[in-house]
Amino acid sequence: FGEIYRDEDVDISVLHGKTIAIIGYGSQGKAQGKSLRDSGINVIVGVGDRTVHNSWKDAEADGFAVYDIEEAVKKADIVHILLQDPAQPAVYYSSIHAHLRPGQTLSFAHGFAILYGTIKPPKDVDVILFVPNGPGPVVRRKFKEGSGIYGAVAVDQDVSGHAAATALAIAKGVGSTRVGTIKLSFQHETEGDNFEEQVLYGGAIQLMRSIYKVMTDNGYPASFAYAKAVRSIRSIIDDIDEVGVEEYLTRRASRTCEFAVRTSGPRVINEDAIQQIFEETEKGIFARNWLNEFNLGMPTLNRTRRTWADSDMERTGKLFRDKFGMS
Ligand code: NDP
Repeated sequence: FGEIYRDEDVDISVLHGKTIAIIGYGSQGKAQGKSLRDSGINVIVGVGDRTVHNSWKDAEADGFAVYDIEEAVKKADIVHILLQDPAQPAVYYSSIHAHLRPGQTLSFAHGFAILYGTIKPPKDVDVILFVPNGPGPVVRRKFKEGSGIYGAVAVDQDVSGHAAATALAIAKGVGSTRVGTIKLSFQHETEGDNFEEQVLYGGAIQLMRSIYKVMTDNGYPASFAYAKAVRSIRSIIDDIDEVGVEEYLTRRASRTCEFAVRTSGPRVINEDAIQQIFEETEKGIFARNWLNEFNLGMPTLNRTRRTWADSDMERTGKLFRDKFGMS
């Protein structure tokens, strides 16, 4: 199940008197930076070339001292890298590696660069990870509500002997130990995340697209097909998350729905394909494909962005939200 760390198990004072440099002020940078600051931690922000990367304006508007990445690394005790993953190696070797000093901590929100060796930190720094299980805006909203998001910490290099305590203190500063944080390995965090992205996100979205296509191909009104393909999933997910599958099926869903789920549901999912994707992820094939894609200028993403955006389902979706709102 994983050992659970809560607020009372974690001493945030290990971060007192230390400076955390948030490198990259995007989705996670904003959420984690502001929450750590609200938790009393000294946070600065490091950004890339200001003629190219505009997020420095956001960081300044949010009241942070903003520095070039090299400068931020020099000023920091903990260098928390929150850049998009495939951009990390180039930024690391141009602006971070040469400025690291013994005793510093290099911290991540995803283990990709360390697991696949695109970043090889010096041997005299701690290497840790803290990841909240949710996108930045949700992390921040939960923090402000006095709650948090389930999260995980991992340690890849423990030179100081207190690398795990540092990672857990960051988790506490972001509100994650208010609900519970577990310890993972860099490998499980990275591969688990990449597996989930392919199968859960990829599968769910493909399922929506297929439902919409089959229904409209067979003459159903587009708005009805969209409601069945997309809108309906909201009621299922929240209920199952709250009470579990069995309680949902036997007490909240109709008997017809329960019969449909138990008999036809397994026919929709190809478990062999899921197993294959898991194995490809473990062999590093997904990572290699993604790094190749990124380094080639993202031809597959650019191509599919065009075709998917210009689809009947997307046009219907816009109209659906206009006409029916988020009800
Ligand atoms: P974003 O894409 O939201 O933000 C990336 C930031 O990096 C931006 O500030 C961007 O600047 C900057 N950046 C990108 N490329 C470069 C570059 N070449 N040089 C300098 N700066 C650059 O990233 P996320 O917050 O989504 O992800 C950060 C980390 O958090 C990743 O490791 C990710 O895996 C992890 N994570 C993300 C989650 C999420 O839901 N988003 C969830 C859990 C973990 P600008 O915008 O100014 O160009």
